[in-house]
Amino acid sequence: MLYFYTPCPADPAGPGCPVFDRPGVFDAAREGCRLPIRDGNTAPEKPKKPASPEEKSVALSLTEARRELALANRIVANEGVIDAFGHVSMRHPDDPGRYLLSRSRAPELVTPDDFVEYHLDSVPVRDPGVGQYSERVIHGEIYKARPDVMAVCHHHAPAFMPLLATRADYVPVFHLGAVGGIKPPYWDQHDEFGDTNMLVVKPEEGASLARALGQGWMVLMNRHGVTVAGTSVKDCIFRCVYSAMNAAYQVQALCIGASVASLTPGEAQLCGRISTATTGLERAWEYWSMRATKAGGIGPAAPRAVPARKGATGKAAGSKVGKGSAKKTKAGAARRR
Ligand code: MN
Repeated sequence: MLYFYTPCPADPAGPGCPVFDRPGVFDAAREGCRLPIRDGNTAPEKPKKPASPEEKSVALSLTEARRELALANRIVANEGVIDAFGHVSMRHPDDPGRYLLSRSRAPELVTPDDFVEYHLDSVPVRDPGVGQYSERVIHGEIYKARPDVMAVCHHHAPAFMPLLATRADYVPVFHLGAVGGIKPPYWDQHDEFGDTNMLVVKPEEGASLARALGQGWMVLMNRHGVTVAGTSVKDCIFRCVYSAMNAAYQVQALCIGASVASLTPGEAQLCGRISTATTGLERAWEYWSMRATKAGGIGPAAPRAVPARKGATGKAAGSKVGKGSAKKTKAGAARRR
């Protein structure tokens, strides 16, 4: 069966889906596309009406945004990028001067009700009355420095640790690894701040990291982790998952002992556009969503009250942020990375 070009969901007004809508492509290869299949004997349908500017803006309502961000948290956990620590945020859909980040919870447990709204200086808009991530300045300072960034993820993916422990460069060793760039920058907190507990908790530390990120999408944090930015939550997660996969392949290839072949700069540039030039991003998101759903999906909201710990002084750790100064959350910093 032959197929004609059909509108690509990523670009309905465009010439067609560049991956799936080619003559002779089998049904199985189209599964991720979910477009109606037309056979060669049928007159081509009229192209769909182009999306209105409002639709193209893909602006999410706050409710939708919270749900997407909760799912993003579940996905990075389910795909092995994040464990108890690490976090994903998004710029507020209605106010670019704010961002949404979960209260201090393992991402695998985050629900749409867990998000706290922050100003870009990482001060909560309202006292959330719950523990907060101490490294939230990573997010705020990147949003401040990069108006084009709509989502940020900070993680300590095991796949990256051999590189981060040896300060080895990350190089894309397969096409999807291009999402991390070629030799993304390293940032070492010690260079500017000396001995610290290595948590990025001061605004100036977050700003330093944002400067290291520059105009890129991924910055490696020596002996700590990785911070990834994206033009959307989905873009950010795509970069996180495939850069972690690439890091694992790179390290495994190094173990073989042969020299590791990297994509050329030109290949990396072209491959870095795969997620936006094809249906790849939506296809991957649908796949990861299915896997996260199988793993339990987004569960019911948990009580927001932070239970008092045995031996605590009666005040829930980090629960009172007051004016939101990052230093006021130091009580629980060590376990809230
Ligand atoms: Mn960290």
